[in-house]
Amino acid sequence: MLKQCVVCDTWFDARGSAKCCSPECKRERLREWKREWQREWMKDPEYRERQRERQRERHRERYHNDPEYRERKREWQLDKKFKALQTGIEQFLKEKKCKKNGKTGRN
Ligand SMILES: [Zn+2]
Repeated sequence: MLKQCVVCDTWFDARGSAKCCSPECKRERLREWKREWQREWMKDPEYRERQRERQRERHRERYHNDPEYRERKREWQLDKKFKALQTGIEQFLKEKKCKKNGKTGRN
C-alpha cells in the first residue's frame, strides 16, 4: 500500500501500520513525540508531581541499595550546605557594608 511518510512527505510502500518511509524518519518521529510529550508534561502540574514522586522513590531505593550512591549523595549535600553557608555569609557581609555606608553617607 502506497502511503506518504509523515516526516518527509515521501511516498513509500507501507507494510502494516508503518507511517514512515525509513528508520531515520522513524527516529525523527520518535524524537518529535518525545518533544510533544515533554511539552504536555510541562503543562500538567499533577503529572509533574507524580513524576517527581516516582523519581523520589527511585532515589530512595537507590539510596538504600547502593552505598556508593549514598556516599556521593552525602558529599553533594555537604557541598550544597557549604555553598549555602558561604552565600549566607557573603549576604551578611554585604548588608553590613551597606549599613555602614548608609551611616557614613548620612553623617
Ligand atoms: Zn520519510
